[in-house]
Amino acid sequence: MRFVPQFTDGQEFPHALGKVVCVGRNYADHAKELDNPVPNEPLLFIKPATSVVDLNKPLDPPFSRGDVHYEVELALLVGETLTHATQDEAERAIVGIGLAMDLTLRDVQTQLKEKGHPWEIAKAFDGACPLSLFLPLSRVPNWNALAFTLEIDGEERQHGEGADMIFAIPMLVAEMSRHFTLEPGDVILTGTPAGVGELPRGATLRLTLTGGLEITTSVVE
Ligand code: ZN
Repeated sequence: MRFVPQFTDGQEFPHALGKVVCVGRNYADHAKELDNPVPNEPLLFIKPATSVVDLNKPLDPPFSRGDVHYEVELALLVGETLTHATQDEAERAIVGIGLAMDLTLRDVQTQLKEKGHPWEIAKAFDGACPLSLFLPLSRVPNWNALAFTLEIDGEERQHGEGADMIFAIPMLVAEMSRHFTLEPGDVILTGTPAGVGELPRGATLRLTLTGGLEITTSVVE
């Protein structure tokens, strides 16, 4: 069954979820913690629709394949087709904001990076993208004022702000649309701030986003 994006007011989005277009290293402090250079153009990758699961259900990633890292990210729901969009067009096509986890098999990814191979099996596996409900957007928000957090067992591990992104949202979405046509139901992940780490089994997670999104979920034992 295809995942259908839903809004916090109970409305279902009229299109099934499509691809998830992601950016790596969009926060300088996170690039630094993984010893990666800060890029001068966005480092893009895609998670397929099959990687998306409901963030409200217990997370059950493949722990048997090595370290699973959490990365909390601001998620944008695309409402219109975008190809070679301007920043204005890109900004106006966003119809919802939510939160997602870009789950990463870090050991697997490190080995792939060393060999210069693609990352897909480390980032695009089934369950690799737990996704929240979306706050509906009726107008373009002040992206710089957005803030989000991740707590694990009551302790804050990640705190991100729109203002700290290397590539601001309108520019990022426009750039993505130069490489991949974005369609209604596609989701954009905007990168993770510092504080990534191993996802502990059995943990309780709490995620918040300014504007009223608050999620409590868990990780399987
Ligand atoms: Zn990420």
